[in-house]
Amino acid sequence: MRLGLLVAILAAVMTPASGAQAPCPGNALALGTARVLAVDAASTPRVGRKHFPKTLPLGPNEVVLTFDDGPQPGSTARVLDALKHECVKASFFLLGRNAVAHPELARRARAEGHTIAHHTYSHPRLDRMPVAAAAAEIERGFAAVDSVIYGHAEGAPATPFFRFPGFAASPALLDRLERRAIVVFGADLWASDWTPMSPNQELQLVLARIEAARGGIVLLHDTRAQTAAMLPAFLHALNSRGYGVVHVVPATGTQAK
Ligand SMILES: [Zn+2]
Repeated sequence: MRLGLLVAILAAVMTPASGAQAPCPGNALALGTARVLAVDAASTPRVGRKHFPKTLPLGPNEVVLTFDDGPQPGSTARVLDALKHECVKASFFLLGRNAVAHPELARRARAEGHTIAHHTYSHPRLDRMPVAAAAAEIERGFAAVDSVIYGHAEGAPATPFFRFPGFAASPALLDRLERRAIVVFGADLWASDWTPMSPNQELQLVLARIEAARGGIVLLHDTRAQTAAMLPAFLHALNSRGYGVVHVVPATGTQAK
């Protein structure tokens, strides 16, 4: 009896607090971040089933929220506000030129615990450029974002996560990124938020796709007002439908956790 009790106590003490979340200030019913997933190019060099054979090792009803093209005044702050209200961590694939133009927004995303990833300097179609020029554009993006966020840029990006503008990859560039141990993110689904529609239409569309896929890497754009507008309802719906948000962080690299 006493031994049984001791075992029970030890089990309770030693069980990792999976599912248990820190309280979310001001929102007892927050969605929260279900877990953190460390990602590296050795095990998953290219992820997202829309573009590659594999995706991240996610469970059923798990989503990874990713935002491209920012930061942008207005919409990015609204996106950050919505994420903060629900204590949800996401990944922002920044454009170098936008980080340079709006450094306070880029730094805010970082300060609020989001992953800062990369999306080139100025969003060209890299597959239509000479490889050397495309590689230089990618490097310029890494350097611009890291300089804004960390005050300096090393030879490699602090967070080795990259997404091709328009998903326009080429075999040579994919090989080059893999050799540098940079994870290339595609997506498992998206909100099609490049198409003008009402926030509610976008909400219904992305929720239907998430239900069909039972989760995955979700591509959104924090530059889109309609996405910023639907985000509070979107996060609320994920919560009520039992989805968990997975925060991807680099397993390697120098971005401090
Ligand atoms: Zn983009």
